Amino acid sequence: MTLLSIRDLRTQFMTEGGLVRAVDGISLSVGAGETVAVVGESGCGKSVTALSILRLIASPPGRIAGGTIEFEGLDLLSMPEKAMRRIRGKKIAMVFQEPQTSLNPVFTVGFQVAEPLLLHEKISRRAGRARAIELLRRVGIADPESRVDDYPHQLSGGMKQRAMIAMALACKPSLLIADEPTTALDVTVQSQILALLKDLQRDIGMSVLLITHDLGIVAEVADRVAVMYAGRIVETADVRALFASPRHPYTVGLFDSLPRVGEIRARLRAIPGQVPDPAAFPEGCRFHPRCPLAIDRCRSEVPLLREISPGHASACHRAEEVKR
Ligand code: SF4
Repeated sequence: MTLLSIRDLRTQFMTEGGLVRAVDGISLSVGAGETVAVVGESGCGKSVTALSILRLIASPPGRIAGGTIEFEGLDLLSMPEKAMRRIRGKKIAMVFQEPQTSLNPVFTVGFQVAEPLLLHEKISRRAGRARAIELLRRVGIADPESRVDDYPHQLSGGMKQRAMIAMALACKPSLLIADEPTTALDVTVQSQILALLKDLQRDIGMSVLLITHDLGIVAEVADRVAVMYAGRIVETADVRALFASPRHPYTVGLFDSLPRVGEIRARLRAIPGQVPDPAAFPEGCRFHPRCPLAIDRCRSEVPLLREISPGHASACHRAEEVKR
């Protein structure tokens, strides 16, 4: 069953440098209980996609210029703001990269974890505190009875991220949007947080839309992957198919820039060139200035996303020739 369905979403920003088409006609769906990862370098439009779903694009300078976003059969883009507030935090929750920006330094962790429950479920403060303790325990915070009264600065980075997850899960959302949830953490804490997310997902039965630049994380948690480049989805497949045989040169570039066991950093192959200026995308295939397989056709004709094998699509004129 499809929980979230995005069709031809276009999100734009008016800047001094011109019109930025940050998200330029993407379509994506997330099924019930599924984890879908959106992968790409910074500036590719993946975080703007997440903010568009929650209608958190600041306007001006931004606006959703076209497309539809359906969640549980409801059209989020035409919904009144009041109804949207009931969806945010209750039905769709979000975890960000930097807990510092989401946890308020002047309130206790317990108060902030309980806040969505006080707001959406109208429970008493006493019951909220009890639920906050329960949630902090569930996300692996030791001694939650005393931690509940701590302020954010008293917690480590990993604990803050756990508290953020507790906040996000308080109302048992159907969809969790996790935007680079572990980027600020060291590798060991990162794996613990990913394992925790997987456990919680199983318990609650929620879906996860994971935004990341890191294919290592994708391999650990995702069922399906959409690779974004310059505001568009360039490849989508289930995680096994994508790792076994990527069908877009950009995805191959992302794989080549992953560190391998025994490989020293200097030998890593970075994708040559720069992410293009979003106010002046190249004509034709937006990846052509960086692509080792580019031909004349790529400089003039936009490659459309097309199915290469069942469930595996690529937006590349030469998808059948791509090898890792
Ligand atoms: Fe490279 Fe051409 Fe494919 Fe674009 S369409 S990724 S430039 S081969």
